[in-house]
Amino acid sequence: MIFRKFQDIDFNNFPVVIFGSGPAGMTVALELEKKNISSVIIEAGESEYSEDSQDQYNGKIIGDNIADLSSSRLRQLGGTSGHWGGWSKPMEAYNFKNWPIKKEDLDPYNTKTCSILNIKNQFKKTKLNNYFNQIEFKYSTVRFAEKYKTYIEKSKKIHLILNCQLSHFEGSEKKIQSAICLFNNSSKKIKSKYFILACGGIENSRILLWTKEKNGSLINKNLPVGQYWMNHPWIISGIGLINKKKLKSKLNDQFIDYDGPLHFAASKNLIEEKKILSAAIYMNAKEDTKLYKEIIKDILCIAPEYGKKIAHLIFKKDLKCGNIFMNIEEPPSKNNRIKLDPHERDKLNIPVVNLFYNKSKESLLAAKTFLEEFGNFCIKEDLGRIAAKENIYNLDDFKNMGGYHHLGGTNMGINKSISVVNSKLKVHDINNLYIAGSSNFTTGGYTNPTYTIIQLSLRLADELHSKLNT
Ligand SMILES: Cc1cc2nc3c(=O)[nH]c(=O)nc-3n(C[C@H](O)[C@H](O)[C@H](O)COP(=O)(O)OP(=O)(O)OC[C@H]3O[C@@H](n4cnc5c(N)ncnc54)[C@H](O)[C@@H]3O)c2cc1C
Repeated sequence: MIFRKFQDIDFNNFPVVIFGSGPAGMTVALELEKKNISSVIIEAGESEYSEDSQDQYNGKIIGDNIADLSSSRLRQLGGTSGHWGGWSKPMEAYNFKNWPIKKEDLDPYNTKTCSILNIKNQFKKTKLNNYFNQIEFKYSTVRFAEKYKTYIEKSKKIHLILNCQLSHFEGSEKKIQSAICLFNNSSKKIKSKYFILACGGIENSRILLWTKEKNGSLINKNLPVGQYWMNHPWIISGIGLINKKKLKSKLNDQFIDYDGPLHFAASKNLIEEKKILSAAIYMNAKEDTKLYKEIIKDILCIAPEYGKKIAHLIFKKDLKCGNIFMNIEEPPSKNNRIKLDPHERDKLNIPVVNLFYNKSKESLLAAKTFLEEFGNFCIKEDLGRIAAKENIYNLDDFKNMGGYHHLGGTNMGINKSISVVNSKLKVHDINNLYIAGSSNFTTGGYTNPTYTIIQLSLRLADELHSKLNT
């Protein structure tokens, strides 16, 4: 059911209140419904895009350039899934090394995750050599508002309130007593047994920081709320050519030939042997022809015979040729963090976000090492040629074209001095507050985050189910 008036809801009937209707929050509500548990979703935005709502997402970035905080998320029903790219895949097992859970804890949720995202549960991986795998992404076209709005309207177990913003929590003795929400210029107190914060990878930290400021004793003051914030730099790391036919014959029937670009990821061996962060590259199926003419011209100058061969292969469409796009992992750093602006407030009188962010040399090193080793592999197997961009090769800098994945800030862990939630996603030292979303990620890996967010939300619904049954 969708409610237009606040007083229509009797919150005593709802053991769970969820803040945010993006992939994280909506998944929790949908899964609780399957377990016969009623929930209310409180959504700050409207059912569609509105500039007024979006303005509430403005914030300041202090440090290196990254996609601005308003355009990199959507404050509306369905959240940022309203304009996401849909690239989906589970994280690599090795990326869970410092997490308090393992990949196997999330694998049982694969079927349900794929069904939510309307994708096939098949993510092939083929070993190229000790250092690289060919990997497969699936492309989801699901926009959560489009897929689920009518469903929620008819649901008896999911109640949704739009245009209602969570401001902060109140409570004492390790318990949230109520959530303070702003609706139609008035403030409302919401009570429930369990509260789920699912407002995205920036707001989750912002709301906890504001709660900390409003009531000093509710949240353990030593928890690093807002810290260890990360994203996935998305860069053009070089140019190159891959002879698809040759690669196909090398890999035989293991070659992943689906209607998409070629994806290659670092293996656990590369990461451990070279002590680098993880990364993956992407070579587009349809590249700008101007670019590959330039590549051939360059090759003809330095290696005329090889250049002729390449030109011939491109003509026969055997080559993937052009820019090498790369997604790189970032290290969780204490200094990359979300803080509340000490002076500026938004129109609801909540401090605006300051994101302190600097790119990491470690990410740059991962990009360079990946390309060098991948280039060596291509030469050794005579599969093509790879050239790193000069700034990457010289470890100078990289230009981040993305910054759309907001990770960390309420990261998962056992040690309370370096984490905010436990392995069950419960905020340390508060008995009834859980967090859903990529702010919980302990490390970021290279994989786009939403698939993992949905797995974690399904697992959270299981946890709430067992709590409510005991
Ligand atoms: C351009 C772009 C492309 C992307 N492409 C991909 C991709 O290809 N693959 C991938 O995996 N990921 C991608 N992402 C990231 C993906 O969109 C996010 O990972 C995902 O939407 C996060 O889900 P969420 O529910 O945690 O947060 P969100 O989707 O951001 O939802 C948060 C919800 O909380 C609401 N809210 C915020 N504050 C409050 C408040 N105070 N009170 C109540 N409600 C509140 C918001 O209105 C929103 O509905 C992309 C992102 C962008 C911007």
